[in-house]
Amino acid sequence: MPDTVDARARLRADCARCAGLCCVAPAFAASADFAIDKPAGQACPHLQPDSRCGIHADLRERGFPGCTVFDCFGAGQQTVQVTFGGGGRDWHADPAVFAAFGVQRLLHELLWYLTEALALPAAAPLHPEVAAARDRVERLTAAGAGELAAADPALLQGEAGALLLSVSELARSGVRPRGRDRRNADLVGADLRRRRLRAASLRGAHLIGADLRGADLHLTDLLGADLRAADVRGADLSGALFLTRRQVAGAVGDAATLLPAGLEHPPHWRPR
Ligand code: SF4
Repeated sequence: MPDTVDARARLRADCARCAGLCCVAPAFAASADFAIDKPAGQACPHLQPDSRCGIHADLRERGFPGCTVFDCFGAGQQTVQVTFGGGGRDWHADPAVFAAFGVQRLLHELLWYLTEALALPAAAPLHPEVAAARDRVERLTAAGAGELAAADPALLQGEAGALLLSVSELARSGVRPRGRDRRNADLVGADLRRRRLRAASLRGAHLIGADLRGADLHLTDLLGADLRAADVRGADLSGALFLTRRQVAGAVGDAATLLPAGLEHPPHWRPR
């Protein structure tokens, strides 16, 4: 069984080994998350020649909270250092780089979930299948640009998604009583403080602005749940399933919020 904390540390963005790809490749729409419109493949005006952000310390105050939430799961440095072998390229003007980064981003997110699945003792009967899926994805992350371009990430996502669903069912099956299945539910702004959520499925649920203060989310499946502005102050997420840094950073927590090993409280949760 892999050490999840170590494995997750490897799936962390290392901007010093990247080239600001997340500030160039994706499109932004002016919104509460981004102060400007930006087409895909065009560098953000705040990106400096050294590929650092010129407003990094003030992103939220300057209208770019979406940048503090984005997580590439380490896909940026993998694209620059492995797919394209390091230097000697115009990183901000090469569509092949953007395409590879997009695929790597999906693959790295899958690695995050599959790594967690491998660390769940209750899912042990599925571990050989999960390990094989993880190996397949890991091998593809080491491929060159041509192989990545030919890959079908949607197919991989579908296969891994079905497997992760089985893992979730198995991991939660022993909990009695357990919360309801609220997969993909519209829970925007809902007051969930008194709902039984332990071992529930909130996979893909829309929890924007939901009140989860003090909630017990042990073994609650949060894969793909939208937690933007969800209030998780004092909530116990330490045993939540498939939680990501992006979800944590998008939520509103405090010092009393408990997180799984390998995830930290984001800086903007600290009182000012
Ligand atoms: S504001 Fe900074 S972090 Fe956000 S896209 Fe622009 S350069 Fe990147």
